[in-house]
Amino acid sequence: MDGLKSAIPELAWPSVMTDHSGLMALLRQYDVSQWWTAEQLMEAQFLQLSKLAEHALRTVPFYGRRLRDVGYVSGMNMTPEIWSRLPILTRDDVRDAEEKLRATSYPKTFGETSWANSGGSTGIPVRVLKTGMDGVMWQAAHLRELEWNGIDFSLEIANLRGAASLMKALSQNPGAIEDSGGLILPDWGHPATLLRKTGRMGLLEPTLPLATQAEYLIKRRPGYLIMRPSGLRLILVYFREMGLTLDSLRSVWTMSESVDESLREVCREIFGCPVKSSYSCNETGYIALQCPSGLNYHAVSESVLVEVIDKQGNPSKPGEIGRVLVTPLHNYAMPLLRYQVGDEAEVGPPCSCGRGLPSLTRIVGRLQDYVTLRSGEKKRVHTGHYRISAIRAVREFQLVQTSLETIELRLVVSRALNEEENKVLEEVMKKSFGGYLKWTIVFVESLPRTSAGKLMQFRSEV
Ligand SMILES: [Zn+2]
Repeated sequence: MDGLKSAIPELAWPSVMTDHSGLMALLRQYDVSQWWTAEQLMEAQFLQLSKLAEHALRTVPFYGRRLRDVGYVSGMNMTPEIWSRLPILTRDDVRDAEEKLRATSYPKTFGETSWANSGGSTGIPVRVLKTGMDGVMWQAAHLRELEWNGIDFSLEIANLRGAASLMKALSQNPGAIEDSGGLILPDWGHPATLLRKTGRMGLLEPTLPLATQAEYLIKRRPGYLIMRPSGLRLILVYFREMGLTLDSLRSVWTMSESVDESLREVCREIFGCPVKSSYSCNETGYIALQCPSGLNYHAVSESVLVEVIDKQGNPSKPGEIGRVLVTPLHNYAMPLLRYQVGDEAEVGPPCSCGRGLPSLTRIVGRLQDYVTLRSGEKKRVHTGHYRISAIRAVREFQLVQTSLETIELRLVVSRALNEEENKVLEEVMKKSFGGYLKWTIVFVESLPRTSAGKLMQFRSEV
């Protein structure tokens, strides 16, 4: 049985859906389009971009001039040539021109509008107006993620991503019960429950002591775990230090922060399962999902156009790292054309899995991950350094540029490091900053999180 939910309780098989059948139909289209060639996907995207550009031209003050300046006039098909001439939309643009970016009207069928706030982890908080249609696209991408992860919907999920407001709201859920410091809900919630019967979902705050988190996981024995990479690393190290085991997990799903190879390795060692990661942001929704058969990411081409460009603005080639531009294809309330999300990514070659969806080898991190030198020159910081995180006693670390001449490596450790481990740290810092910054290594009790609960691997106080 495929576990599909029938909308009519008197019918069990086949499942008849009177509700949310549109979402199901969308998913079935995704099943097909993921195997299209890159050219076919591009053609379909430009068909949609023509509609979006026409809408922007007519209803969005910010774009009237911008589109005409690059040679786009009403009734025209949008082409890759015209598109590539369109100026990049920065976070500053979105913050400063919020009103002018709003459409004066949009089709009623797109549903109600609501604001999506960015976490502000880049230092430039922005908010974007979306419609119900963006929500549907988010749901479809999320369901693709679940399908790609090959999940069993009947199992219990432990959600430790941390959202105090969500927990508060859900505690009012009549089906919610409290257990081991967390909240157990009768199902996974939307969008999974729109289409399927699911197992339970437990919610636990990742700010609780590690002992409480471990106890909770061991007691609940979830099939899946959702949490940020930095929180996952802490709990894995705790399990190892205490000699604890957990063999119920099929996979761990992470978001928000980048996942490095050492984290994947520790997860396989301690929990015996893989890490599945996705790439999204509040302003645009899902951007890319981890390939079901690899560690690379595939752009969700059905809902976003993802471009990676070099310093000159040309498309980056496979193996090259460039700036990520995202265009949500269905945001008609506040169109974002070529929006620079603030991350960099490495372009991948066509994926061996056979999907035509563009491939990103890795999301490198925030554009802000640069140290500034007294000369004004900026140098990229390689965070998530494999050699640092491979030291077993290192629970977490953060690089902080404290002045134009100095940088600190701050570490939370579970025991004092030995001579050899200290030497590794010295070597890493020398290789990364030798010759242009003075570095110090500082051991701290804990590292601060952003208001969204995210651990930044690099911060600049300059
Ligand atoms: Zn693939």
